[in-house]
Amino acid sequence: MDYLSTRGGPERLPFQDTILTGLARDGGLFLPADTPDVSRRLKEWSQLSYTELALEVMRLYADDLTVEELRGMIARSYATFRHGEITPVVAVGPIHVLELFHGPTLAFKDVALQFLGQLFESVLARRDTALNIVAATSGDTGSAAIQGLRGRQRLSLFVLHPHGRVSPIQALQMTTVLDGNVHNLAIDGTFDDCQNIVKGLFSDLAFRDRHQLGAINSINWARVLAQMVYYFYAAFRVMERTGTDRVQFSVPTGNFGDIFAGYLAWRMGLPVERLILATNENDILARCFATGSYSTGEVVATLSPSMDIQVASNFERYLYYRADGNTDQVRSWMRDFKATGSISLTPDGEPLDDPVMVAGRGDTEATLATIRNYWERHNYLLDPHTAVGVHVAAQFADAAAPTICLATAHPAKFGNAILQATGKDLAHHPLLDGLKGLPTRLTRLPADQTVVAAHIAKVLGG
Ligand SMILES: *Cc1c(COP(=O)(O)O)cnc(C)c1O
Repeated sequence: MDYLSTRGGPERLPFQDTILTGLARDGGLFLPADTPDVSRRLKEWSQLSYTELALEVMRLYADDLTVEELRGMIARSYATFRHGEITPVVAVGPIHVLELFHGPTLAFKDVALQFLGQLFESVLARRDTALNIVAATSGDTGSAAIQGLRGRQRLSLFVLHPHGRVSPIQALQMTTVLDGNVHNLAIDGTFDDCQNIVKGLFSDLAFRDRHQLGAINSINWARVLAQMVYYFYAAFRVMERTGTDRVQFSVPTGNFGDIFAGYLAWRMGLPVERLILATNENDILARCFATGSYSTGEVVATLSPSMDIQVASNFERYLYYRADGNTDQVRSWMRDFKATGSISLTPDGEPLDDPVMVAGRGDTEATLATIRNYWERHNYLLDPHTAVGVHVAAQFADAAAPTICLATAHPAKFGNAILQATGKDLAHHPLLDGLKGLPTRLTRLPADQTVVAAHIAKVLGG
């Protein structure tokens, strides 16, 4: 499988090069040249375990690895999960909760980043080369990336997080990791500032080449690939359980990476009735579906900080399919968006019509009410991100297509929200309670690309 840029540049790369490159050199995002149609294999796939299924999905896209190599990477990646099913699906009241938080940092990003760590290690060893990862995080990516890459010899990792805007536990999950190859940079700014700095460093081709920069942000194709697997896995479990022939998914969304994986699973032939995109008050995507206008607003801090994003980097991949692969159109949209912060995708403010995706928004009040309601009625604790998805899903209940709500984090990561919602200090996990009081390491820097670049150059000794 070859990979092409959403912006039409001449690069055409095989899988391993795509992963090492991250962002395409024309500023676009990589997508596979074809979408395999797997509809005739679904019956057979529905019998597979998580890791067997992962192998079948991934080998379609990672065809420059041998099946044995891929099988080994998948086995090592998911051996770190604390649940035998890796991503179990639990029936809770009217919905099915897809628990994606059984990895080392208790958030869904482990599913992709444990795999990416294994993938990098083996590709870099084979090529006898090294890579310096620069990443922005709104909270969960950072710790998941650190757990995926810590202590690995051929990799350094610089993680930019917005200082004081990630939860205290999220900060500790990052800064208590003292491995020499892990560098936490606390930026005085928002997540979007961090993401812009990272994008800026990647666009500086001289800097990027001199320091062998690589990306693990959700723009990296391997992230999307690993996340596709659980859409198949969960759909099979729920169709079997309920006797239906289709399902719908509700996805708490920030950077559009997770829901985009579901969109590809649907494009590959998974019978998905709806993909419900749920945002918090930072609702650029919900507004875009309602009005056809993709336009940024101010970032507001909410109870679901991993969704406090106004520019959703993976949306460009969706725009590529929306434009039917017309890369001139994508390039002009992205140019206009960069210049003005706003583009119109439909005439006269009409809603975006999409064959599978719908969108909605849940604010702080709805988040708290949903957490409280699920605790009181169903004795189940939702983390605030998951609660946003569960709230929006209720607007799209469908008797013929049961709803699978993606649970993207363990509630103990957001104990304050649980306390606010229920009045009780219910959410704990020994992995997190054990972090308090441990030594930490971080470097605080202004939201200035030049300063960050100079710091990275100094650490890398060039
Ligand atoms: C990252 C994250 C999200 C948003 O996922 P995207 O792929 O950025 O849309 C939602 N919930 C949690 C807990 C996260 O860590």
